[in-house]
Amino acid sequence: MKALLPLFVFVDACGWEIIRNDPFVRDVAPNRKRLTSVFGYSSACVPSILSGRWPSAHGNWSYFIYDPKNSPFRFLRPLRWLPRQLTSRRVFRRWLSKFLKERLQFKGYFDLYNIPFEHISLFDFSEKKSPLQPGGMNLGPNIFDYLEERQVPYHVSAPQKDEETNLAGLLQDVRSERIDFAFLYWPGLDGLLHRVGNQSPEIAPKLRDYEKWISTLLAVSHNHYEEVRLYVFSDHGMANCDELLDLKSRVERLPLKIPQDYAVVYDSTMARFWLFSEKSRRLVPKLLESVPQGRIIPDPELAALGALFPDRRFGELIFLVNEGVLIVPSHMGERPIRAMHGYHPHEKHSYAALCTNQPDIPEEIEAIPDIFRLMTRDAELAHSQNRAHPCMPVAKP
Ligand SMILES: [Zn+2]
Repeated sequence: MKALLPLFVFVDACGWEIIRNDPFVRDVAPNRKRLTSVFGYSSACVPSILSGRWPSAHGNWSYFIYDPKNSPFRFLRPLRWLPRQLTSRRVFRRWLSKFLKERLQFKGYFDLYNIPFEHISLFDFSEKKSPLQPGGMNLGPNIFDYLEERQVPYHVSAPQKDEETNLAGLLQDVRSERIDFAFLYWPGLDGLLHRVGNQSPEIAPKLRDYEKWISTLLAVSHNHYEEVRLYVFSDHGMANCDELLDLKSRVERLPLKIPQDYAVVYDSTMARFWLFSEKSRRLVPKLLESVPQGRIIPDPELAALGALFPDRRFGELIFLVNEGVLIVPSHMGERPIRAMHGYHPHEKHSYAALCTNQPDIPEEIEAIPDIFRLMTRDAELAHSQNRAHPCMPVAKP
């Protein structure tokens, strides 16, 4: 029996609005707090949680960046001659992404999404390492570097495995009493919400499944650790997409050429532009200002959101749509999906949640990067307490 186990259970997209009127984990983690998310997608949010820093400090934000000199995708250009019916198909893109990930030795999540082969050699992919591993950040350390440096034994999920396999892996480590810290990652709710929306009757049963798994995890943990500190948290919420915006064809109607005048990545809720000619610097902002479904985010606001990058690698001009609007077609998808995240962090459905069995959530824990402070605090504590009583059976009152 060991003294203390901090359990950090990350349920992707389990936003504040998803659980606000649901008793999710209330009996085991009754203390709840709404947390501000980070501007961007999971590619921005997850590294922020894991490093305790904002995107401009850790360098992980959106996936594709304009960098023709270093593009590893140049050899894909000949594929532009293949018929679009084939090259825009998800099954083809998924197969090719898997092949590329292997060939380019990318360690994190990788998907080519819907980036056109005609322009793919303009772009590089910004997440070549896995943020869920030590050394996984673009800049600076993450929680796993922190734990390794201090020789704290830990468990972390492997995102390529399914949710129940990851739970089983953690249970095994808990039973062995090998670990002083655990980070469990469950992405299933995110996928479900994207598909069915945040009002679907399928959401509650998924939350009940998680509750069952969490009570198993707690029961096993209490057999091996005197105290278990449970934190169930998310990175963002999920908004239903009720309005589609074909921004791409409006931009393409401008008398401008890629790559002479500009480059662009259409993410599903934002469009990121690099403007190379005087004409594009005049016409693109003028067009975007006439689109009522979104707005250009000014630099001071990007800075306040921790998403202003002085080298502009993620875009010189960021156009963000309002909550509920989906850019379709985009470079993320050819067809609409029911729900999305990646809107402004102050939109209603962007907020994340933290649920814990700890009586106090410190006041300074306000946004998702602050979860890092809870992780380091509890890991330190567990490491010292577990070391103080090595393998000593502790009698329960
Ligand atoms: Zn998602």
